[in-house]
Amino acid sequence: MFKDQSLKLKFVFFAGLFFCSNFFLALPIRSASALAAWALNSNGTLKLRTSSGTKLEAFFQSSNKDKGERVWVDFPGELSRPRTLKGNGSVKEIRLGKPSKGKTRLVIEFSPSVKLEPSKLKLIGISPNTWELKFFGLEINSFSSIEEGNILRNSIKRTFEKIKTKDLDISSLPNVPYGKYKVVIDPGHGGSDPGAVGINGLRETDIVLEISKNVSEFLTKKGVKTILTRKEERTLDLQPRVSKANNSRSNAFVSIHANATRGKRSDVNGIETYYYSGSRGYSLAKNIHKQILIASSQSPDRGIKKSRFYVIRKSSMPAALVEIGFVTGLYDSALLRQKAYRDQMSFAIAKGILNYLKVSN
Ligand SMILES: [Zn+2]
Repeated sequence: MFKDQSLKLKFVFFAGLFFCSNFFLALPIRSASALAAWALNSNGTLKLRTSSGTKLEAFFQSSNKDKGERVWVDFPGELSRPRTLKGNGSVKEIRLGKPSKGKTRLVIEFSPSVKLEPSKLKLIGISPNTWELKFFGLEINSFSSIEEGNILRNSIKRTFEKIKTKDLDISSLPNVPYGKYKVVIDPGHGGSDPGAVGINGLRETDIVLEISKNVSEFLTKKGVKTILTRKEERTLDLQPRVSKANNSRSNAFVSIHANATRGKRSDVNGIETYYYSGSRGYSLAKNIHKQILIASSQSPDRGIKKSRFYVIRKSSMPAALVEIGFVTGLYDSALLRQKAYRDQMSFAIAKGILNYLKVSN
C-alpha cells in the first residue's frame, strides 16, 4: 500500500526465485537491471516487465513547491544508461536512474496540477514477470502513452511447471483436539452455474468441488468435523449455504472459488483471499492465504482483502473466501489443470484452517 511522503509500498513476488544473469542478455535495456521493459499507457496504467523473481519497492511522494507528485519504483540491478524522457500532458517527465550502486529507479513525475489518490495506488504482480500500477486520480487520456522495450515479449513463460506429486503427509498437519471443532466448507457455484469458465473450458465448479472434498477429507483425518454445503454437481443458492452453515454452529466457514477476469485476460494470474469483518475472519483468511501461497510458489500474491461477498457477510462464524487462481489466466490455468497441484492446494487450505483453529480457539 502506498502512503503519503514516500512511504514504502512493499510487494514481494516469488521470493526466493532468481534467474541466472544470462537471462538479461537479450533485454532492451542494456544492463543487469531487473527492469526489462515498461509502458505508461494513456489509460493511466503503468506496466512493468521484469525478470522473474524480482522484488520491487514502490514509493509515492506528494507534490512540493514547483514539483508535481512523483511515483517511483526501485528494481534490483544497476542501470547502465541513466536517462530522462520528456513527458506530455499530465506527465512531466520520466527518469531512469541509479539511486545507488546496484539499483535501478524508474521515476514518474506528474505535472503540478495532477492529484493522485495515494491510498489507492498499488503495484500488483499479474504474472511471474509482469506488474501493473493503476494511477487513480489521473484523468484518462490526459497524456499519450510512453514506453520503452516490448512489454509483451516473454510476458509469461510458456513452459509451465509440471507439478510433481508430493507425498501429502497427514501427520505433518498441525494437531488440534480431536472432535472439538466443526468447519463448513463451501464449494462455490455448481449445477446450472458452472462459475468461471476459463482456458480450454476449465470450469471453476469442477475445480472447487474436488478441492473442497479434499480439504474436508484432510480435516476429517485430523479429527475436525466438516460440513460440505454441496457434495456433488448441483445448483445451490447462496442463502441455503449460509443457513446450513449458521445452523451447524461451526467454528469456521470457508468458501472455495477460482477467479476469472471479465475480458478473459490471460495475463492476469494470482491468488487472493477475502474476509468480511472481525479479527477472527481476518485471521482465518490470513492463515489460509499464507499456506496456499507457500504451496503455489508460482502464482502471484494478490493479497488478503476485505469484501462483502454474501456468503462471508451473512455467515455467523468467522468466514473466509479463497480464490485459488484464475481459470482465465494462462499461468494459473496450467497449474489448476494438474491434479497434483489441486491436491497440494487442498492440503494447504486444510493446513491454514488447522493453524487458524489452533491459534483462535
Ligand atoms: Zn466463484
